[in-house]
Amino acid sequence: MRVLWMKKEHLRVFLKASKQFGELWGPVQKGKVHVYDKIDDFSELILEPTKTVLSIKKLVHPPEFNMFRYDGESYEAELENMPRKVVYGVPPCDIHGLLILDDLFTRYYPDPYYIKRRERTAILGVSFCTPTEGCLCKSMGTDVVEEGFDLFFSDLKDFYLVWVGSSLGDDMVRAEPDLFNDNITRKHTDKFIECKTERDEKFTRGIDMTVIPDLMELSYDIPLWNELGERCLECGACTVVCPTCNCYNIVDEPSISGSKGDRRRYWDCCIYTEYSLVAGGHNFRRTRGERLRLWYSHKLKSFGYSEKPACVGCGRCIDTCPVDINVLVVARALLGKKEHKGKS
Ligand code: SF4
Ligand code: SF4
Repeated sequence: MRVLWMKKEHLRVFLKASKQFGELWGPVQKGKVHVYDKIDDFSELILEPTKTVLSIKKLVHPPEFNMFRYDGESYEAELENMPRKVVYGVPPCDIHGLLILDDLFTRYYPDPYYIKRRERTAILGVSFCTPTEGCLCKSMGTDVVEEGFDLFFSDLKDFYLVWVGSSLGDDMVRAEPDLFNDNITRKHTDKFIECKTERDEKFTRGIDMTVIPDLMELSYDIPLWNELGERCLECGACTVVCPTCNCYNIVDEPSISGSKGDRRRYWDCCIYTEYSLVAGGHNFRRTRGERLRLWYSHKLKSFGYSEKPACVGCGRCIDTCPVDINVLVVARALLGKKEHKGKS
């Protein structure tokens, strides 16, 4: 992989110039939190962001969109009006989440909507030197990343190491060659080691995933699931914030005459009662406990075709659930540790 370095003051210049490759998106402040938004005013862009409320998922697998319009005789898929985007500020855990979505939406049942958006979205990753309280990524091995980005900026305080991950990333660098330097010396390497060590020491929480998948397998009938089910509010917030949740529903929205209409896609959630309701009124997962068990099976045991757990340790379920149900609480309970009511 090609590695370069860049002075800190050049980042803003580079991002302004990168608009030639698509709309620039990045983290902005909204109230007390950071969210991805389109950057029209550069003073709003946060160059050293913390975790955004929603991950990059919202741009490649949007909460709602129109798949196609129909008029009774033909239909027109909405595949061509997706603008190219350059998204700055994507952390390693979210890039790992993106790789899981890539696998799901492209391998066996290719989803043209996801593929088109993904192809048109340049990912500019960043390292975070200060993990937030809920970050579990180091214990999951998702705090570093080797693929899934076009460029990755390792923030080393005085400068960035810039890892080039694709030919598009290479094109972006070559469009502004004066901003980058390919003379990597021992000084740069030492600073990289120093910053990584400093950051690693700041993680206060983690999950030892060595035995968790096996414990999930062995814990199908334990009382934990009913206990969590009684506490859960079925709000679905955990699934909204999780970078690897991907369930959706498709709804036809016809005009009043019924002669034309839209077929729209919305995020759905396996925690909701209706999600596993089928014709005849049978529900495969009648209780909230059963539905939570399914969710945690995906996050902590296996997911889709990769058969690996789909938790990337972002900690958003820890930050979000109003009744403190999250991966850390569940992992601790599986390990037989006393559950903390608070954010343990
Ligand atoms: S399960 Fe929780 S910590 Fe894991 S990826 Fe989803 S939101 Fe993040
Ligand atoms: S965020 Fe918490 S309360 Fe809401 S559905 Fe998820 S587990 Fe249940």
